[in-house]
Amino acid sequence: TGNAAPLLPVVGHDTLVPLVDGRQVAYSNLDVAASAPALESVAERVAETLPLYASVHRGAGYLSQVSTALYEASRRAIGEFVGARDDDLTLVTRNTTDSLNLLAGCVPTDPDTGAAGRVLVLDVEHHANLLPWQRDTDATVLTGAASVAGTLAQVRDELAAAVAENRPYALLAVTGASNVTGESLPLAELVATAHEHGARIVLDGAQLVPHRRISLADTGVDYLAFSGHKTYAPYGAGALVGRRDWLDAGTPYLAGGGAVRRVRADRTDWHDGPARHEAGSPNVIGAVALAAACEALAALDPAEVRAHEGALRGRLVDGLEAIDRVSVVRVWADAVDPVGVVTFTVAGYDPGLVAAYLSAEHGIGVRDGRFCAHPLLGRLGFDAGAVRASVGVGTAGEEVDRLVAAVRALVTDGPQARYDVVDGLWVV
Ligand code: PMP
Repeated sequence: TGNAAPLLPVVGHDTLVPLVDGRQVAYSNLDVAASAPALESVAERVAETLPLYASVHRGAGYLSQVSTALYEASRRAIGEFVGARDDDLTLVTRNTTDSLNLLAGCVPTDPDTGAAGRVLVLDVEHHANLLPWQRDTDATVLTGAASVAGTLAQVRDELAAAVAENRPYALLAVTGASNVTGESLPLAELVATAHEHGARIVLDGAQLVPHRRISLADTGVDYLAFSGHKTYAPYGAGALVGRRDWLDAGTPYLAGGGAVRRVRADRTDWHDGPARHEAGSPNVIGAVALAAACEALAALDPAEVRAHEGALRGRLVDGLEAIDRVSVVRVWADAVDPVGVVTFTVAGYDPGLVAAYLSAEHGIGVRDGRFCAHPLLGRLGFDAGAVRASVGVGTAGEEVDRLVAAVRALVTDGPQARYDVVDGLWVV
C-alpha cells in the first residue's frame, strides 16, 4: 500500500474519459504491455525535433545533415542502452515483429545442403517470436516444456536436451519476459547451453526491455528485439541489436534506395551494416523518440524500477487473488522476479465483458483475448481468452487499487450496464 507514485511522468494520465453513467474520470492505463504511454520527456524531445527533420542520408541541406546526425545518434543511444558490443549492429525497425522477421531472413542456411537454418523455440512465445521461425526457417517448436504446473528447471533441461541433438541448431529463440505472465526464463543458463552447442540466442525483449536493464555484452545474448511503443516511446520504431556477421550476409530485408552502393540494370551491389536492411526513408522521429525513452530509462536506478514495479505487481496479484472467482495465471512454479504483466480470469464472466465493463464503468483500459499467444493460452486452458493488466514506471499504486476495487465490484454486484457482443466485440 502507500501512494506508490510513478517513477517518471507519462503523457495522458490526466485525460478525462466519460463513463456510461455520465461521470468523467481520469483515464487509467493498465495496459502498458500492449502499448505504453509516452514519457513526458519523450514527448518533449519529439516536439523539439519535429521542426528539424528533413531527408536522411540523402540531402546536402543543413536540416538533412541535422536529421542524419540525429538519426545516427539515436541509433547509438539505442544500442548503448542494451549494451551493444563493438561489433554489433543496431538496426532501427518498426517493432519487435519487424525485428524478428528481419533476423529470420538472416539465419544462415546449411553451407553444404543449402537447407534452411534450424531454430529452436518454445510454444510459450508471442506469435511474433514463433511465426517468423515457423515460416522462414526450419523451426522446431518444443511443446512439452511449458506444460501447466511445470517448472523452469524442466524447461531448461528440455531445451538443453534438444539443443544437444546431433543436427545442430543455428538459433535458440526465447522470450525475455512472457507477455502473458511476465515470467522470464533462466537467461544465463540458456545462453550457456546455446553457446556450448554452437547455437546463437535471440531474445524477444518486447516485455523485458521496458522493465529491466539488459546488456548484450554482459549476458552474451546474440540478438535482442524490442519495440518503442512498449518502451514509453510513440511511433512505429523498434530495434534489432546483435551480431553483425549474419546481418551483413543476409538477404537485404527491404529492397530499395539507401540499401545499395551501386545499381546497374543487371546487378546490384548491396551495402552492409544497418543500411543493408533499412531501405527507404527512415523513421527519424521514431528513432529519436525511442532513443529519448532509452536515455530516460537508463537514468533510473534499475533497483528502483524493479522495486516500484514489483510492489505494484504484488499489490495487483494480492488484490485480485483475494477476490472470489478471480484467478491469476502462472506458468512456471519456480519463476522468479516476473515483470509487471498479470493475466487473470473472473469465473462466470467472459474476458471481453470484463474488459468492456472496466472501460465503460471505471475508465480503466486493459487487454483481453489470447494475447497473440494461442498455443500458450490453449495449453493453459484459456481458449476463450483472459484479461491482462500491466504496470510500468508510469503507473501509480492508486491505479492498481482502482482496478482491484472495480473487479471486486463486478464480482459482488455484477455489471451495472447491459453489454452485448457486436461483431465479436463486447460493447455497452
Ligand atoms: N513479443 C512480445 C513478448 C510481445 O508482448 C509483443 C507485443 N504484444 C510482441 C512480441 C510484438 O510486438 P510488436 O507488436 O511491437 O511488434
